[in-house]
Amino acid sequence: KSFQEFNLDDRLISSCERLNFEKPTKIQKKVIPIGLEGKDILIQAPTGSGKTASYLLPIINQILTYQKRNENFQTSKIKENIFHPFSVILVPTRELCEQVNKQIAELSYYCRKVLSSLHLAADVSLETQRIRLIAQKPDIIISTPNRLVAHLKANIIDLKNSLKILVIDEADLVLSFGYSEDIRFIVDNIPNICQNFLVSATLTQDVETLKQLLLHDPIICSV
Ligand code: AMP
Repeated sequence: KSFQEFNLDDRLISSCERLNFEKPTKIQKKVIPIGLEGKDILIQAPTGSGKTASYLLPIINQILTYQKRNENFQTSKIKENIFHPFSVILVPTRELCEQVNKQIAELSYYCRKVLSSLHLAADVSLETQRIRLIAQKPDIIISTPNRLVAHLKANIIDLKNSLKILVIDEADLVLSFGYSEDIRFIVDNIPNICQNFLVSATLTQDVETLKQLLLHDPIICSV
C-alpha cells in the first residue's frame, strides 16, 4: 500500500515523496484512514514507528479540506482578542514541541502558504505570544500541557468554541511528568464534539483513565 491509496490531498502525497517516505508504516496504515473519518483513536506505538505523521497527515488533510471548500476559510478564529484554535497537539517537553512543529513544516511543504503552526513552549512572554497568535492565526498549536493551561488561564486561548482536534502525544510521559492536573483542566475545557487522538507507547493505568475521560467510542490502533 502506498500513500496514494489513502484519500489524501495531492500536496501531502508530494510531501511524503519529497521526504522519501516510500510507503506508510504499519501504524500509519491503521491510523490514517480512521483519522480521516474523524473518529477518536487510541494509538499505541513507540517512537520511531512513524506515529507522529500518522496523526499529522489526517489533521493537515482536514485543514486543507476546509480550505478547498472555502478559499478564505479560517480554521482558527479570533474573537475579542482571544485565540480559538482549530487543533492542539500536546507533548511532554519543549524539545518535542519543536520536533512536532518541524514535522508539520515538512509535511505541509507544498501548502505552506495556506497552513501554519506555532509552538507555545518558546521562551517568550504570554503577551508576546498573544500578539503572535493573533497575527499568525496558526491552524495548529503545539504545546506542553503546562504552557497551554497558562494561556487558558490568562484568557489568551479559549478551546470551548472552535477546537475540532486534540492530540495528546506521549501520553504515558505526559502523565508521569506530573501533568495530570493540567490535562484534567484542558479536557474539562474542550467541546464535546472534538476528534481526540491519544498516543502512548505503553498503556499504563493513568493512560487507561485518560482514555475513559477523553475518548468517545475510540478505535484502538496498536503496533
Ligand atoms: P516517529 O515515530 O513519529 O517519531 O517518526 C520517526 C521517524 O520516521 C521520523 O523522522 C519520520 O520522519 C520518519 N517517518 C515517518 N513516516 C515514515 C514513512 N512512512 N517512511 C519513512 N520514514 C518515516
